[in-house]
Amino acid sequence: MSGKILVASRNAKKLGELRRVLAAAGIDGLEVIGLDEVPEFPETPETGATFEANAIVKAVDGAAATGLPCVADDSGLEVDALNGMPGVLSARWSGRHGDDDANTALLLGQLADVPDERRGAAFVSACALAIPGQDTVVVRGEWRGRIVREPRGDNGFGYDPVFEPEGEQRTSAELSPQEKDAASHRGRALAQLVPALAELARG
Ligand code: IMP
Repeated sequence: MSGKILVASRNAKKLGELRRVLAAAGIDGLEVIGLDEVPEFPETPETGATFEANAIVKAVDGAAATGLPCVADDSGLEVDALNGMPGVLSARWSGRHGDDDANTALLLGQLADVPDERRGAAFVSACALAIPGQDTVVVRGEWRGRIVREPRGDNGFGYDPVFEPEGEQRTSAELSPQEKDAASHRGRALAQLVPALAELARG
């Protein structure tokens, strides 16, 4: 191991995802740690207008507070028939932060009269990499699909039970974690950071 990299998250799934991306790319010089493994520091509220803005703030805060390179992700669902909403408000769409069932129920109600051919949507993830003393990099991954009419599946979280990826007849909550990783917005964004992470691992 030549160094540590902080993931600005307490979510074990996000930490695991970056570990798998690094392993798949053959990068073994970086130890991935989460916010629970560094001293607490004040976190800026997520009030940015874009996924990129929120990801950059989280990554820069994490790098400044710890002196470590820091990766941060901000993600959400953009629904065509809602002009790209809920977007950056995805986690709090129903007014209660992180209430997945209420957020999903509200979305299905809003789309009740939208015909099948206009139910397109995309999961979007912006991932920022902040390295102390260097310019911050931000990338975006998108996963196109459509919003179904009834939730299906128990895997994943958030809007997964109502999102059917393009080319699939299962929702993303019916995919295995490995299948979701291989196709997802976050997987696609993180993959773009691999060259920068490989350089970091080389030290
Ligand atoms: P955050 O980036 O962790 O703040 O997540 C934003 C919100 O977007 C989550 O609470 C979910 O509602 C939604 N979201 C982001 N990524 C996914 C996903 O992979 N599946 C389902 N919902 C997601």
